[in-house]
Amino acid sequence: GLGTLDDGCIFCLIIQGKIPSFKIAETELSVAFLDINPVSEGHTLVIPKHHAVTLHDLPDPYLADILPLAKKIAGSLAVKEFNIVQNNGKIAFQHVDHVHFHVVPKPSETEGLI
Ligand code: 5GP
Ligand code: ZN
Repeated sequence: GLGTLDDGCIFCLIIQGKIPSFKIAETELSVAFLDINPVSEGHTLVIPKHHAVTLHDLPDPYLADILPLAKKIAGSLAVKEFNIVQNNGKIAFQHVDHVHFHVVPKPSETEGLI
């Protein structure tokens, strides 16, 4: 299940447990953990266990594993409204160069952009 990892990448280090994280869920191909700087309580990141910078760099089997996991996490929240966001490229607000899906609970009318 483990793909190619990059030890210069913080999310690859999280996958390997070399950087601590609060893990929410895991599959063979994906891992989900709390965002260190949450937009709202429960803000979770879902990432492939393979280093890929953008969606187009990611092999489809990893991608196919992520959305059901993100959906499951969103469905388990107390808050029933949420955003799923995935940024590609700096202009599009991507700050970590390892594909990640944000699951952002929306408990009230908080800002929308991640
Ligand atoms: P982006 O802006 O690239 O779409 O999202 C990157 C997200 O990763 C941000 O929401 C940021 O708070 C989160 N993040 C960055 N570094 C770490 C870290 O070391 N641990 C965790 N849990 N989240 C991180
Ligand atoms: Zn990585």
